Amino acid sequence: MIDTLKRLVIASNNQGKLREISALLEPLAIAVVPQSNFDAGEVDEPYGTFVENALTKARHASRYSGLPALADDSGICVSALNGAPGVSSARYAGEPKSDERNNRKLVEALKNQSDRRAYYYCVIVLLRHADDPQPIIVDGSWHGEIVDQPRGEGGFGYDPYFFVPDFGKTAAELTAEQKNHISHRGQALAQLVAILRAGKF
Ligand code: IMP
Repeated sequence: MIDTLKRLVIASNNQGKLREISALLEPLAIAVVPQSNFDAGEVDEPYGTFVENALTKARHASRYSGLPALADDSGICVSALNGAPGVSSARYAGEPKSDERNNRKLVEALKNQSDRRAYYYCVIVLLRHADDPQPIIVDGSWHGEIVDQPRGEGGFGYDPYFFVPDFGKTAAELTAEQKNHISHRGQALAQLVAILRAGKF
């Protein structure tokens, strides 16, 4: 029930994600607490599927905080690269994580490639507690194309290179509201909000 969900830990230290998730949950009056408020550190994400990684992150955050936990696992899947970088998107160019190096590697990998199609994918898991046997799981996809030159200052990660044909802009050129309305994360969170509003938690 939504009445019981007053506080929620978000299993991420990614400022871009935290901003987007907090904005989208705001209408539900749920206090969103970042994982960095606890001594939780970062958990490994060794799995080949987004959903396994999201579950792992949510369990970890819930165990450390004693709160219900929401985790997002997301990435960009590029057609000409057989879906890469996919689950490895955050660390595509290796450690330490760097958006700049990731983007450079992506543009290089698509040099002379005419198929520019790509989509963002996001899965969100919500756990009532660390051992919840019935997590709520929602997802979303957002299709676009990779461009060679960055455009825009908004968003994070691959957004300056992710062109959205419907807008004629990159994701980084959209306002936060526009991006949240149509993005992979926005779509997944809209489903989650509907589930919570229906009292199914
Ligand atoms: P995660 O923290 O393991 O889920 O990694 C997600 C990674 O995918 C991020 O670090 C970004 O590189 C990329 N990503 C996911 N969602 C977005 C987005 O909305 N914009 C840009 N990059 C994203």
